Amino acid sequence: MKAKAAVLHAPGDLRVEEVELSELGEKDVLIRVEACGVCPFDIRLYLGLSKLPLPKVLGHELAGVVVEVGEKVSRVRPGDRVVADPMVRDLTCPFCRRGEENLCMNAKWPVVGFTEYTVAPEENVYKISRASFFEAALAEPLAAVINSVERSKMRLGDDVVVIGDGPNGLLHLKVAYVAGAARVIVTGMMEHRLERALRYGATEAVNVAREDPVKVVKEVFGEQGADRVFVTVGSTEALLQGIKMVRKGGTVVQFAGIYPETGIPISARFIHYSEAFLTGATNSTREQFRRAVKLLDTKRVDVSDYVTHKFPLERAEEALLTAKSLKGFKVMVVPTMKE
Ligand SMILES: [Zn+2]
Repeated sequence: MKAKAAVLHAPGDLRVEEVELSELGEKDVLIRVEACGVCPFDIRLYLGLSKLPLPKVLGHELAGVVVEVGEKVSRVRPGDRVVADPMVRDLTCPFCRRGEENLCMNAKWPVVGFTEYTVAPEENVYKISRASFFEAALAEPLAAVINSVERSKMRLGDDVVVIGDGPNGLLHLKVAYVAGAARVIVTGMMEHRLERALRYGATEAVNVAREDPVKVVKEVFGEQGADRVFVTVGSTEALLQGIKMVRKGGTVVQFAGIYPETGIPISARFIHYSEAFLTGATNSTREQFRRAVKLLDTKRVDVSDYVTHKFPLERAEEALLTAKSLKGFKVMVVPTMKE
């Protein structure tokens, strides 16, 4: 079966063309994609900052409708509204075996979103009922944020800093409150996004162009600093800022990828005396994905006003450039939308 898809042939060369779908296996589900979010990863691939074998269909944050199922599929049927976890873990490598499936050594990403149709293993497909396709399409980033917050060892009543006012930064804000944070300071550079952070309940929204975020954090939370710091922008400057904000024994989580590869200067004495934890967070386990879908479907994490731009498949390139421009907030490609 063929489907129209937005295929990246080389950096800057995105073409909408017919692709051959992989054959529907007995435990596979064919999904008509109704919404797919633009992720910073897609933008980096498009710009040539991240490297993967090309050509490749972009997009991996997708929700849609089941149109056909393999013989042995029992959990979903045609007509079901679903979201698909794009990460297929082997479930047998040492990481999967110890429950750290998000670190799977042999993960594959066959489920794609900038396309009319995609094939996903039943194991990766989750039914939705209340969430719209646009809300459900946020399950993949939300699952990664759940992993990030759980890795931080957040506790009830914690003081939290989120560095970055983008869609994933503000998902951290929302999840931090669901996880019991008392106060959350968001730092960023875009006035309209910082206003959004305040609307979502941020204690303070700091424009780093105008104020020193480290100073604000210490004024609001006290000299000791924040319990948990999430760095959701890919810059070493932001990570170093995060390290200056964290309290002794607290946690800094580097959530965003940093491109190109680069190091940071860090004081060995700080490592010794602060007892702070510095960690990363990448992808999610199936269990975290399942809970992400539930939080969206019950609206406990409300993303109903997240999407600001929708583009048909033919304008996928414009979707990438709009997301890159930071003008809007969450940008979606809607393959069923007519031009
Ligand atoms: Zn594995």
